[in-house]
Amino acid sequence: MKLNRPHEECGIFGIYNHQEASNLTYLGLYALQHRGQEACGIVSSDGHDLHAHKGMGLVADVFGNQEIFKKLPGRSAIGHVRYSTTGSSVLKNVQPIMVNYSRGSIAVSHNGNLVNAQRIKDELEAWGSIFQTTMDTEIIIHLLATSKANSLLDRLTDALSQVTGAYSLLFLTESRMIAARDPQGFRPLCLGRLGSAYVVASESCALDLIEATFIREIEPGEIVEITASGMTSYFPLKKTTPCPCIFEFVYFARPDSCIFGKNVYSVRKELGRQLAREHRVEADIVIPVPDSGVPAAMGYAEESGINFELGLIRNHYVGRTFIEPQQSIRHFGVKIKLNPVRELLEGKRVVVIDDSIVRGTTSRKIVKMVRNAGAREVHMVISSPPTSYPCYYGIDTPNRKELISASHTLEEIRRYITADSLGYLSEEGLLKAVGTGNTGYCKACFSGAYPIGFPSTKPDNQMELFDKEAAQ
Ligand code: AMP
Repeated sequence: MKLNRPHEECGIFGIYNHQEASNLTYLGLYALQHRGQEACGIVSSDGHDLHAHKGMGLVADVFGNQEIFKKLPGRSAIGHVRYSTTGSSVLKNVQPIMVNYSRGSIAVSHNGNLVNAQRIKDELEAWGSIFQTTMDTEIIIHLLATSKANSLLDRLTDALSQVTGAYSLLFLTESRMIAARDPQGFRPLCLGRLGSAYVVASESCALDLIEATFIREIEPGEIVEITASGMTSYFPLKKTTPCPCIFEFVYFARPDSCIFGKNVYSVRKELGRQLAREHRVEADIVIPVPDSGVPAAMGYAEESGINFELGLIRNHYVGRTFIEPQQSIRHFGVKIKLNPVRELLEGKRVVVIDDSIVRGTTSRKIVKMVRNAGAREVHMVISSPPTSYPCYYGIDTPNRKELISASHTLEEIRRYITADSLGYLSEEGLLKAVGTGNTGYCKACFSGAYPIGFPSTKPDNQMELFDKEAAQ
């Protein structure tokens, strides 16, 4: 069985030793909803057995009925929210994965993507392993179950020393919760306290919601075991230079979270200030693409002295599915989400700030929308460098073929999105704004410098810019 293409940016949450464990996990997942909207699940432990509830859809929909929590008893629970995927939107792929093996039951939630998953899976299958899902996460369970080591921690170390790639993990057994982060520390993971309970979450915004205290981040390469006797930290994996994902700052994490030692909002605002230094445009107003471009647009406005305005209003109630009209309304997708404020834009020279351009479709639609609302000039300024390389470590960036900047010049992209000018933040500017501290960052999606190897792929064809959609 082939594994799915990497596309698993997710959120994880767990709590140990709290009387409302599954309820608080639900709230934690609620706060992490931005990290995955396709599916979610919770597994709880009552000290003897594990209990699971999972489903496709948003946290509030899957756990919308209070009765569900009666089926998730116990003082410990872990949960997972899963990002949209293609071709694998099936319940069997929803996490946490829960299995029974010779030593009891275990459940796992995973954020990230393993880069040597297919090879290990082929080997395991050759030895007779049968996989139930198409998720790379299941490999860790198989390695753990087949390990010759004795204690769970040694088995886990055995398993993790065989996999490479990005993983922030949470395990739950009948009696313990274990958190682990890969040695590069690609994805965030933090530790908190709520009374006598321990909490682990992808982002600190989940701790805030349940009023837990932030203790610290789980370190790259660290395994934290939480049992009835307390918490123990281990560093059994081979040490390497950490390189957390810089795109978490640019787009993925919530602005109110602190990840990799920094507040995301402050970093984004600084990205905007740096952008204004690099791409100063003569304009009347600066507007963000909500919500992702808001902090950067505020920073840009502050630094440039150009007025900040909310020129595009977002409908916050747009679900993932809506019925598209047949022919009559084009570009419905962006229109249902964003509407321009004509009174603000009419006759103005407008700077539009967004965090990134992936395929270019969003920018193209937005530029047209702002111009149609009467703007005299539309300048697109992006608070990150061109996204020219796919991510193999868990962010859902498409393959090179679909990345507009992989095969087009700045001028070609500008013409495609129909902007009067286009500017991206430089790589140096990005690093300057984020501040390197004592660690580097993974910025492979911008630079192509991948910190760890990934499976070789066939060379992609170039993206065809002026395709059917572009011609509309
Ligand atoms: P595109 O239309 O493909 O150029 O998409 C660009 C938009 O997608 C920007 O407004 C970003 O905020 C957003 N974006 C960037 N990276 C991702 C991602 N990995 N998943 C979902 N949206 C993204």
